[in-house]
Amino acid sequence: MTGRFALADVTVRYGSQTALRAVTLTIRAAERIALVGPSGAGKTTLLRLLNGSARATAGRVSADGRDLAGLARADLRRLRAAIGVVHQDLRLVDNLRVSQNVLAGGFGRQGFWGSVRAMVRPRRQDLARAHAILERVGIGEALFQRVDRLSGGQQQRVAIARALYQEPHVLLADEPVASVDPARARDTVALLTDVCRERELTLVMSLHNLDLAREFFPRLVGLREGAVIFDGPPAALGGESYRDLYRLPPLARSLDGT
Ligand code: ADP
Repeated sequence: MTGRFALADVTVRYGSQTALRAVTLTIRAAERIALVGPSGAGKTTLLRLLNGSARATAGRVSADGRDLAGLARADLRRLRAAIGVVHQDLRLVDNLRVSQNVLAGGFGRQGFWGSVRAMVRPRRQDLARAHAILERVGIGEALFQRVDRLSGGQQQRVAIARALYQEPHVLLADEPVASVDPARARDTVALLTDVCRERELTLVMSLHNLDLAREFFPRLVGLREGAVIFDGPPAALGGESYRDLYRLPPLARSLDGT
């Protein structure tokens, strides 16, 4: 997998609720994209489509030119092994060591029992690789600590290290900084975008914080009510697009001086 995706006229409905409406989008390998827009706009649904955990009701989603709807289970498993996901709630096992949580990132490639073996009796080279990744994300010293002894910021780095241990071609992150303070949010977004640039991973991240999205991403995709209403570099997201995105009323003439 190279990390290319295409959505062609994709609609996703949950019962009577339409989560995405006729979305057409091309994601190139190693691109870094922030999905922005108000809550309920369809950002999570779009991320779930990319790793095959949500299905298009209409239209076509493809990865490396292959239609996801037509993939056999084994191919879908291979696709998922190539996609690292960083969840907002981290999904770490609190009472295990950092090393074991990171090694669990091998699950998709090694299978369940391979992963269990690697966690219980890790090979020296696997531990060395886990340690190198932890060093890269700034918490090398935490390798053998229990996750529940770490700060929230350190735990977030463990979750990122676990996703990287998987050696993905793509990283998907759903509001990874929604529940942390602004300084830490900035550090985490900087780390994720830097690592993806270094390793040439495709990164798609949903982000509430439009300032961070503008600062760290070359391309923003703005969603509102399930439709793409902006797609371009941050500099092109002018005042009006911003207001459209969040459906703010136009500025009153007396206020904007015209
Ligand atoms: P965002 O991530 O931008 O907040 P979501 O993709 O989570 O948006 O949701 C888009 C819309 O789809 C919302 O109206 C939401 O209520 C609806 N939705 C999402 N998932 C489900 C589901 N599993 N069942 C029913 N409705 C859903």
